[in-house]
Amino acid sequence: MKPTRRDFRLDIIILLGSITGVTITVFGIYRWLSGQHALAWLDFAIVACVMLPVLYAWRTGDSARAGAALCVLNSAGTLAACLLAGHTALTWIYLVLLTNFFIANRWLAASANLVILFGVQLLPDFFHDGFHATSVAVSVLLITGFSYIFAKRTQGDRARLEKLAAIDALTGVPNRRSMERALADAVDTFQRTGRNYGLVVLDLDRFKDVNDQYGHAAGDAAIADLASILRFEMRRNDQVFRFGGEEFVALLELDNIEDLDTTTERLRKAVRASLRGPGGRITISLGAALLREHEKTWHDWFSRADAALYRAKSAGRDSYVIADDLF
Ligand code: GH3
Ligand code: MG
Ligand code: MG
Repeated sequence: MKPTRRDFRLDIIILLGSITGVTITVFGIYRWLSGQHALAWLDFAIVACVMLPVLYAWRTGDSARAGAALCVLNSAGTLAACLLAGHTALTWIYLVLLTNFFIANRWLAASANLVILFGVQLLPDFFHDGFHATSVAVSVLLITGFSYIFAKRTQGDRARLEKLAAIDALTGVPNRRSMERALADAVDTFQRTGRNYGLVVLDLDRFKDVNDQYGHAAGDAAIADLASILRFEMRRNDQVFRFGGEEFVALLELDNIEDLDTTTERLRKAVRASLRGPGGRITISLGAALLREHEKTWHDWFSRADAALYRAKSAGRDSYVIADDLF
């Protein structure tokens, strides 16, 4: 299965793997032509080993495993090159030390770098003298330390950004982007396991009047209060999302069909009982639909719930309609 979201690590693995493959192949050909056959074979073997995880990552999207394999391979290949080529291979160490942090998690990258650090110290006649060995060890440690801190910071920032991108700023509930992902997951789970899901689309009644009479801030406060009420009403496996404006969507995990009817009515009553604006009671209308077997994407499911909402509005508001094919 191809990944659905952009994966920075996957991009780096494919880019780095391809560049490494081409570069080492060119070196291998040069070494072969200049008679260094053993080193040329090593180059070709490294290219083959590098391209395997790259192809795996490209086909499966599993960047974590492919990255870990590449990190181990690159590090082992670097040590082998140092053993065979002597200290002329030393310049390449620094590239590997750095890229390990781009392709693998920071613990594995740091561990691989320490193995390189101790590995080269053990190689016979590798350094000119003790000072050379010490300065290489210090620079390897510094590069690893800085890269580790940078990787930790970047991962933290990315986690925070992902969280922010999934939450609606006014209400604190998950936003439409999260909803699309959750609905797609629900369709997927239903197809695999047969677990029942219901979708409720709800919209504040005559909300434009609230804004017009009492101002946008009062409207915003009512939307935030509605989100709190809905969140409180969700059961353990239910989720509520702000779809946009004054429309919300609830995704319900259901035991049976009647459950959808009962829960939708419960939501209507809870909002009716608790939601107040500056001008008094504010109500909602709701449309609900049970996920059906023929619905392979969430869009059809959503459209039926939305059409039911439209009918609830036409029926006079402060009411709910369950999509027809339910019963
Ligand atoms: P209906 O009963 O048919 O839903 O009537 P309505 O007035 O609520 O109509 P509609 O749902 O089409 O109107 C949406 C209004 O909600 C338009 C806008 O004034 C208000 N609204 C949408 N998003 C926001 C928001 O983020 N903040 C505030 N304060 N108002 C919003
Ligand atoms: Mg609306
Ligand atoms: Mg409305």
